[in-house]
Amino acid sequence: MKRLLCVALAAALVLCGCAADAWRAVEMREETVWAMDTVMDLKLWGKGAEEGIGQITAMLYALDEKWSVTRQESVLSRMNRGEDPALTPQDEDLLVRVEALSQRTGGAFNPWMHSVSAAWGFYGGNYRVPTQAQIDEALAQRQLDLGAALKGYAGQQAVELLEKLDMERGILTLGGNVQTYGEKPDGSPWNVGIQNPNGGVLGTLAVTGTASIVTSGSYQRYFEENGVRYHHILDPKTGYPADTGLTSVTVICRDGLTADALSTALFVMGLERGSDFWRESDDFEAVFLLTDGRIYATAGACLSGCEYEVISR
Ligand code: AMP
Ligand code: MG
Repeated sequence: MKRLLCVALAAALVLCGCAADAWRAVEMREETVWAMDTVMDLKLWGKGAEEGIGQITAMLYALDEKWSVTRQESVLSRMNRGEDPALTPQDEDLLVRVEALSQRTGGAFNPWMHSVSAAWGFYGGNYRVPTQAQIDEALAQRQLDLGAALKGYAGQQAVELLEKLDMERGILTLGGNVQTYGEKPDGSPWNVGIQNPNGGVLGTLAVTGTASIVTSGSYQRYFEENGVRYHHILDPKTGYPADTGLTSVTVICRDGLTADALSTALFVMGLERGSDFWRESDDFEAVFLLTDGRIYATAGACLSGCEYEVISR
């Protein structure tokens, strides 16, 4: 009996050892890069993780260079100067998709507000409250700014690269955006924290497989003048910071570009219009943090760690 137990124990140890070795054998690479004016953390598991990090970093730099609002020679700056820079089919596809998202959100997501953001000084950090005449003039211009959608698009591009490389799994933090890729070995979900603007984590979203989790928040960029706080998410109807009683909106969606555009759009729409928009849609979930601290989450969002009201269909 004793011997049998020993054999069983030895076998179990060997099995555990194999499992541990298999787990250790999975290549993991982590890298922090600076792109699109923010810190990005890339973490990949699988054979070729090193290659994956290299390809994603190159893609992030290329997108940044192409669509930067501050680089004078970016494709975007050249377009905004009325030049006609060469666009790849992929660039054209991006612009078509961005336009479709603007239409879908009734213009709440509007990628043509570069002049308005510039009038508020949101690009260089030279903040000021523009006059009504300056806002009206800026609203009349049609200048491209992909700041509300580019990081989400980058997440999606990263997923396509990882699929081609047949990578096992990964998690990318691209500024305020999180892009998950693949399944965890034990089948458990990814746990993605929503930032509490007052510090720490507001709540945790459980996400299975590949998804994009994007937060738009008034606390992410703002300035104060005469005791009034002005943030960077602008209402395209007024040209002023959207004032819909929200502090942040988080969107969970399989598609990164859509997640990013919708987080901005829902912030502009506010809780009520945003909830109706969700009811008419079937491709995303959302979490709304109100300025008074209340939290609302759509029925399919797997949120834990906080109290919240459920928005149902
Ligand atoms: P996000 O953090 O994704 O919500 O994007 C905010 C950024 O997008 C701002 O810093 C502006 O560059 C730009 N932006 C501001 N308001 C809008 C809007 N209503 N639609 C599209 N882009 C916007
Ligand atoms: Mg956005």
